[in-house]
Amino acid sequence: GNFIPPIRSNGGNSGNMTSRIAGKSDDTLDDTAKRCLDMLCGPDGELPEKLRNLEPRLIEHVSNEIMDKDPNVRWDDIAGLDHAKKCVTEMVIWPLLRPDIFRGCRSPGKGLLLFGPPGTGKTMIGKAIAGEAKATFFYISASSLTSKWIGEGEKLVRALFGVASCRQPAVIFVDEIDSLLSQRKSEGEHESSRRLKTQFLIEMEGFDSGSEQILLIGATNRPQELDEAARRRLTKRLYIPLPSSEARAWIVQNLLDKDGLFKLVKEDIDTICRLTEGYSGSDMKNLVKDASMGPLREALKQGIEITELKKEDMRPVTLQDFEHALQEVRPSVSLNELGTYEEWNKQFGSLS
Ligand code: ADP
Repeated sequence: GNFIPPIRSNGGNSGNMTSRIAGKSDDTLDDTAKRCLDMLCGPDGELPEKLRNLEPRLIEHVSNEIMDKDPNVRWDDIAGLDHAKKCVTEMVIWPLLRPDIFRGCRSPGKGLLLFGPPGTGKTMIGKAIAGEAKATFFYISASSLTSKWIGEGEKLVRALFGVASCRQPAVIFVDEIDSLLSQRKSEGEHESSRRLKTQFLIEMEGFDSGSEQILLIGATNRPQELDEAARRRLTKRLYIPLPSSEARAWIVQNLLDKDGLFKLVKEDIDTICRLTEGYSGSDMKNLVKDASMGPLREALKQGIEITELKKEDMRPVTLQDFEHALQEVRPSVSLNELGTYEEWNKQFGSLS
């Protein structure tokens, strides 16, 4: 779904261009790689400086797997988090939409950290920023750089920032950023991960000082592991907490409504909210999924074949379905972890 058809103005003569990339000639590239490179060429048919000498397969990987032209998340899809939404709108969306106003004293920071328990909407916020600011979204998990791309992570990082600079405005979302910019490894640090970290910081430094419209968002569940260099570059740090009771109610209603399954009364919703204290947004989604299976399971128990089952034969989802689902879906965040986030937020977070 991420593929964008190539549009070339010069008749598709990419022979000269590709032969300059990492010493490859056109013949050695497959069609997908050629198309990716074609799309990144300027009006003169030349590949931008930053992308020359990069391996086409890495550019292709970034364009096809990491880049998302239409992340398809809007603010309205995200429950609660009003503080984060307000900060992010002012700090990053307006500057991306109006770079002419946000310059000089108003020039925005280029690095944002979203920290908090897993499953609370950090990735959704990253996508919504890109969606609202009409920016291209790049998603990479830092742990994949250190595991899947062993020895090549550095090159992939260059390709990532290179392609992003050709696709401005751009939002680069680095999940689990702590595994890349952690303070733990300083001694006995593996040479390749040290190089990867250095390359990443160089790239960040590069666009931070320039006029490029690239925003880097780092997300982490372990902010306390980030080192000082990472904190310095991620100037705005927003705590993304567990959803409030209202936000949990909204998630339940919104998910059931989407499928036309919402028939609960206010008292039922209040009970569900009371029973789900400490559940993350993602836990709530799993809970709704499990509860919505209740009517189906019951109908099948009565002997109806799944192939024969009519939608009308199923009763609406009830509070009892949620009560059963609560036995299956337990909260994934322990309450004593929350203290660590709150402490770190007090010390390093952007509180207003
Ligand atoms: P994180 O990046 O913080 O680990 P995600 O943004 O990937 O979490 O959220 C995982 C899923 O949980 C989302 O796809 C969404 O369905 C649900 N979710 C989490 N937080 C929220 C929220 N605040 N509002 C609506 N849905 C949420």
